[in-house]
Amino acid sequence: MKRYLVEPGEKIKLAKCDPNDIKAFGGDKEMGLKALQKLNGELQELQEVLYAEQKHKVLVVLQAMDTGGKDGAIRRVFEGVNPQGVKVASFKVPTDEELSHDFLWRVHKVTPAKGELVIFNRSHYEDVLVVRVHEYVPKPIWKKRYDRINEFEQLLAENGTTILKFFLHIDKDEQKKRLQARLDDPSKHWKFRLGDLEERKLWDQYQEAFEDVLNKTSTKSAPWIIVPANRKWYRDLVISTILVETLKGLNMKYPESEESLDGVVIE
Ligand code: ADP
Repeated sequence: MKRYLVEPGEKIKLAKCDPNDIKAFGGDKEMGLKALQKLNGELQELQEVLYAEQKHKVLVVLQAMDTGGKDGAIRRVFEGVNPQGVKVASFKVPTDEELSHDFLWRVHKVTPAKGELVIFNRSHYEDVLVVRVHEYVPKPIWKKRYDRINEFEQLLAENGTTILKFFLHIDKDEQKKRLQARLDDPSKHWKFRLGDLEERKLWDQYQEAFEDVLNKTSTKSAPWIIVPANRKWYRDLVISTILVETLKGLNMKYPESEESLDGVVIE
């Protein structure tokens, strides 16, 4: 899994990262799906201890090109996990109120509290992605944001937040297939926006903006992981594996009862 991790300062070229890669887990879908099921059970348990212990905070950031599979990954990776301790925060076009504050205002207030796991479906990175590509703010303003983002994430990390950032990497052909599938299936029309086709024309600009994100904001305490995401099962498996490994590394424990329970009899 290490090879998907972006080392701090590493210069990533997305064209060199294979979105079809299925090398780990023997490249076998059936075995992969079995492994995913096992990981899912482990994640359920780890999340329960996280919640019980009330010590750690976990933030999972998901970013991707349109149709990259953020929704599917959330559904599959977190299947069966107790909704009590997990929250999804989705970041849409900012409201007028949000726009009248700094770009991290709406983000900071939905970061995880102790015992929580929060998934960001899109995130503060939109402010150096869509905002940059469409020049919603001038370059001198968005250019400073990489440093602000690193500082912000450092603040969260110093306050007990474990951060994992996943970039779901698909290629342009795969996006075409997925958009076509949405067009062909009336039950998926609600997901199809004509605006997606305009965004698709900006593919190269988005890839460049993503490369800058990956190159400038992968840090030791908030690393980026480039997930090969053309195959959905493999995408989910990579995310699950890294998440479960990371949570295990926290060595969480169920807390002891505050009172002695010796000799307690329930009438
Ligand atoms: P999703 O595609 O994540 O399933 P939507 O279709 O509602 O959800 O898209 C959300 C939209 O909000 C995206 O087009 C995204 O680029 C946009 N967005 C998110 N954050 C910002 C931001 N800070 N500034 C401008 N647009 C944003």
